[in-house]
Amino acid sequence: MIIVLRPDATEEQQEHIIKKLKGLGLQVHISKGTERTILGAIGDEAILRSVPLEAIPGVEKVLPILKPYKLASREFRKEDTVIDVGNARIGGKKIVVMAGPCAVENKTLLVEIAKEVKNAGASFLRGGAFKPRTSPYAFQGLEEEGLKYLAEARDRVGLPVVTEVMDPRDITMIAQYADVLQIGARNMQNFRLLKEVGLCRKPVLLKRGISATIKEWLMSAEYIMAGGNHNVILCERGIRTYETATRNTLDLSAVPVLKQMTHLPVIVDPSHAVGKWDLVAPMAKAAVAAGADGLIIEVHPNPEEALCDGEQSLKPKSFKQLMDELRPIARAVGREI
Ligand code: PEP
Ligand code: MN
Repeated sequence: MIIVLRPDATEEQQEHIIKKLKGLGLQVHISKGTERTILGAIGDEAILRSVPLEAIPGVEKVLPILKPYKLASREFRKEDTVIDVGNARIGGKKIVVMAGPCAVENKTLLVEIAKEVKNAGASFLRGGAFKPRTSPYAFQGLEEEGLKYLAEARDRVGLPVVTEVMDPRDITMIAQYADVLQIGARNMQNFRLLKEVGLCRKPVLLKRGISATIKEWLMSAEYIMAGGNHNVILCERGIRTYETATRNTLDLSAVPVLKQMTHLPVIVDPSHAVGKWDLVAPMAKAAVAAGADGLIIEVHPNPEEALCDGEQSLKPKSFKQLMDELRPIARAVGREI
């Protein structure tokens, strides 16, 4: 860690800071310039993170050298993490596509959608049984009944299931039905929830928070990994900006940025990013071109009757067409779908 002292820091202040750092068991290197003094503190940076050094008179700036996330970092693991779920592999050469309705509505519809998306080439079925709705009066999901339908659709159609968990109290129950646990954007910094899914061994799909920086997002991944669960998949789903033409602004540069910063697989959710069905395909294509390891896309046979997010749902036919159009793009970037 580098500690830059203020130009007007007194000798006494400097002595006090050095004493404090040494007291924490760190070695201190002093670099005295003509204008100002810089201290290099060598040792366990984690100790320093819990000390508010910038509160000490005479300190101007504190610059950490190591990343605050460790297990999630590329330095910790050079090779890409690949997560096996049933027959599917997330993070390998094949781009995984997760598709299905926003919310599980009924069994017949879910099984019908599962068949359609599987035939089009999807390798996961998505569907929410616990829905994080902005309004308490909107459809909140079928809860455990919905999970049973998901499990049945998986067994009948042969697609692993990804579904959202909103509350630590539901994890054990949801894990009995789901193959991948989704943490939604609104819960990206629900640290109790992150710690709890960190203790289970199901892969976790961690969506980016609505206004989260990439660093904050990786810190949330670190929470899960610190509990022992290293199977984390990051999902860019758009962030809130001043732009209102789309539901959110898809931060596609997050994909190559994350590929440098972390070894974890990165997928993109164009549906929640754009919020309009006819904008989903172009952004899905762009995501594949940008190097995403997968996509998660909302599909509904009758969007105008959908109980949730119909406006951004693709009909099965458009989804199939998109899958066909994605194949040459995947090939062009050395992947397959
Ligand atoms: C969802 O996937 O249905 C969902 C609610 O997404 P997000 O958390 O990204 O809004
Ligand atoms: Mn949705």
